Amino acid sequence: MNYQKILDEIYAEIQPELSYGKVADYIPALAEVEKKQFAMTLTLPDGTMYSVGDSQKRFSIQSISKVFTFTLALQLYSKELYNRVGVEPSGNAFNSLVQLEYENGIPRNPFINAGAIAITDSLISHYKDEYKTLEVIMQFIRDISCNPILSFDQIVAKSEMEYGDRNLALARLMKSFGNFENDVPKTVMMYCKHCAITMNTEELSRAMMFLAFGGTDPISKKTFISSSKAKRINAVMLTCGHYDASGEFAYHVGLPAKSGVGGGIVATVPGTMSIAVWSPALNKYGNSHAGTIALEKFTTKTGLSIF
Ligand code: GLU
Repeated sequence: MNYQKILDEIYAEIQPELSYGKVADYIPALAEVEKKQFAMTLTLPDGTMYSVGDSQKRFSIQSISKVFTFTLALQLYSKELYNRVGVEPSGNAFNSLVQLEYENGIPRNPFINAGAIAITDSLISHYKDEYKTLEVIMQFIRDISCNPILSFDQIVAKSEMEYGDRNLALARLMKSFGNFENDVPKTVMMYCKHCAITMNTEELSRAMMFLAFGGTDPISKKTFISSSKAKRINAVMLTCGHYDASGEFAYHVGLPAKSGVGGGIVATVPGTMSIAVWSPALNKYGNSHAGTIALEKFTTKTGLSIF
């Protein structure tokens, strides 16, 4: 298949869509990002990469980091993790408090904010200190992307924390139900820091290769997680990766994928490739407007979906 030609076609077709949607503004530092930007990269198991657009421009990966922290937690914990966080789609907004109250402080899944904060909490419990935890998360992302210079944006992390009342409320609610082990503000700050990691589509697509290939990166040959856990992470991406639009995304795109409010989306075509796309303007569910359409075009043009 001529992937470069397909990406070039998508790039041309997506241009009118870049006027639609709205850049996330509830984190003030994200509101400053120029809306009309787009990038898409795919990585094949022989290491070949195809890209279009601003594929070297870094952006805030936000909730995409939840895939990596969930992977780390699954490396450390097995079934006991599910006492703290479920694996069911939420059907609710990513930062909703209502469902958490009804369900006794157990978040539906690791990709809504409450679930991801509980995962960060479980990592801090294991590593005993939040700085060590951040170091482990950063090192893991550098390892899977074979890129030693990745980092996070202090300004974005601070900005999110300053306006992070809802995330603090989610954490406090979990604590009131006994589902929280560490200091709430310190844990939420750590969560904001891993959400503020900056990567471009080339780096993200590379980082997802181990998940596209059953836990083992086909390029470096390193195993990061067992194949059965990789299967589970892909399953949660498919069912919960786009918040209350997860069903719609599966219906239109048909790939395990995870979005972030920075406008990035990562997707796997299991056994074939990994894909990252970025366009900062979001649809009403908080997922990249043009990114979602680009992925739909990709699976339609190539026939590469899991269905
Ligand atoms: N850091 C963001 C928040 O907690 C993540 C949300 C997202 O990317 O969907 O609100």
